Amino acid sequence: MVHKIVVDQDKCIGCGACEAICPDSFKMSGGKARTVKAEVEELTCEKEAVSECPVDAISVS
Ligand code: SF4
Repeated sequence: MVHKIVVDQDKCIGCGACEAICPDSFKMSGGKARTVKAEVEELTCEKEAVSECPVDAISVS
């Protein structure tokens, strides 16, 4: 099953936590987090990034 990862650019405060936790999927750019891989087959560290994001800016489906 393919999971989509989305960072809400309006919510992201650029703390860098998601990149630190899961650099394969998130990269900071212009003070915001962007998705490196917008889709993954299996969620691994992405789930931790979701739970650690202080503003709930990351969603996976
Ligand atoms: S953890 Fe959340 S607020 Fe921090 S950079 Fe990532 S998406 Fe933005």
